Amino acid sequence: MRHYGLYINGEWLALENLDKIEVINPATGEILGTVPKAGEQETKMAIEAAYEAFGVWSSLPANERADSLKRLHQLILEEREELARIMTLEQGKPLQEAMGEVMYAASFVEWYAEEAKRIYGETIPAWKENKRIMVLRQPVGVVAAITPWNFPAAMVTRKLAPALAAGCTVILKPATQTPLTAMKLFALFEKAGFPKGTVNIITGYAGEIGKAFMEDLRVRKITFTGSTEVGKILMKQSADTVKRISLELGGHAPFIVFDDADLDKAVEGAAASKFRNCGQVCVASNRFYVQENVVEMFIEKLKNKLKHYKVGYGWEEGVHIGPLIDKKGYQKVEQHIQDAVAKGAKIEVGGKGYHRGEAEDAGYFFEPTVLSGVTEDMLVMQEETFGPVMPIIAFRTEEEAIRAANNTRYGLAAYLFTESLSRGIRISEKLEYGIVGLNDGMPSTAQAPFGGFKESGLGREGGHHGLEAFLETKYISIGL
Ligand code: ADP
Repeated sequence: MRHYGLYINGEWLALENLDKIEVINPATGEILGTVPKAGEQETKMAIEAAYEAFGVWSSLPANERADSLKRLHQLILEEREELARIMTLEQGKPLQEAMGEVMYAASFVEWYAEEAKRIYGETIPAWKENKRIMVLRQPVGVVAAITPWNFPAAMVTRKLAPALAAGCTVILKPATQTPLTAMKLFALFEKAGFPKGTVNIITGYAGEIGKAFMEDLRVRKITFTGSTEVGKILMKQSADTVKRISLELGGHAPFIVFDDADLDKAVEGAAASKFRNCGQVCVASNRFYVQENVVEMFIEKLKNKLKHYKVGYGWEEGVHIGPLIDKKGYQKVEQHIQDAVAKGAKIEVGGKGYHRGEAEDAGYFFEPTVLSGVTEDMLVMQEETFGPVMPIIAFRTEEEAIRAANNTRYGLAAYLFTESLSRGIRISEKLEYGIVGLNDGMPSTAQAPFGGFKESGLGREGGHHGLEAFLETKYISIGL
């Protein structure tokens, strides 16, 4: 077991005087390591460091910032097995999946190393002979990034890589449950040779750290991924200093299957989007609408597929589904299933969970579960389950499916399966969602803009769009 310090201003600070947070393995309850329980004072130190470093980092030629990111990319690839191992231990996801996430995380670093060199300004024809108009894109300043536990590496690089590419300096507050993957990434930042203070990490009291970020005028931007509940708190807090804010919040993704879909493809897409990371994904499909004349066949095919799914420890060979993150997560899944069954749903597959070991808050597993005969009044159809549960509703018409799909406060991802090109495009356009997977259960990728409509958030990450969040626009009016 290792005691980690905080990386602030280019140094690892042990901070022995502070209390410690124990990081546990959600599969077994074993303590993997500790991180400091820091608060306002340490946050201020990190802000100071990032603020001091901003002048240096933002003045470097874009090529040099790109080179640092390229070195980091290479180091992540070299250390991918170790990163994946740490991730599986602290987060629970199967090793194979953790490896996939490390590669996904690395892809943001590579993409933004390239984009760093293409932050173009503009010149605009002026209205007068002796005037010129020049438009610059400049880094917004010190950025505070707050990340969740479900993707301990990718959410970090998806925020830090574009911020650094733009010329911003950063303080990361990783999720309390999964800071060790972030610590390993920071060791790689250090090795890649980023100037001191450019990247800093802080762990501890989330509310206190968040407040310290918000109250400080030197922090110009908050980028957050997490629950809608906390996102709303941050949005309110940001008003006092008018901070730029990006929010990636909860989802409640519909997954629509038409009778003209390739059902094998739809089943593959459904399983991938639902059971990855034990369903603990904000773009995970949460509500399944299947056209009534193919619903039985869809369920049959699903059953065949899920027969081979193995639930267990993420480091065991052949495991598809690891543990839920904690007891609360488990209880929500259980409650959603009980409520659905009490209101008339039928369990087609799974339905059971179990607790392994002695630890009170770890060792919670759940079988992949499929429910049929579901109705809109059930909890599973109203809240994000964040677990391996697939509630299925049969629908008749296209209009009915679109209405049901859009009938929510959320608007992150939606999926639809049809082999008709015109239907696919027509419905994609009508879905009130930031991301649509048309015959695709896995749309997330570094090149594309990721983000939500409605209460699912503000702003986009990924693609060239992902840089926007970290740039200000400056207009220089020149008199000749
Ligand atoms: P989740 O349900 O994924 O745990 P949260 O929104 O609770 O989502 O957590 C996401 C991140 O936000 C974590 O890093 C967490 O520590 C942090 N966080 C939680 N509460 C606050 C707060 N009041 N202010 C700032 N950050 C917070």
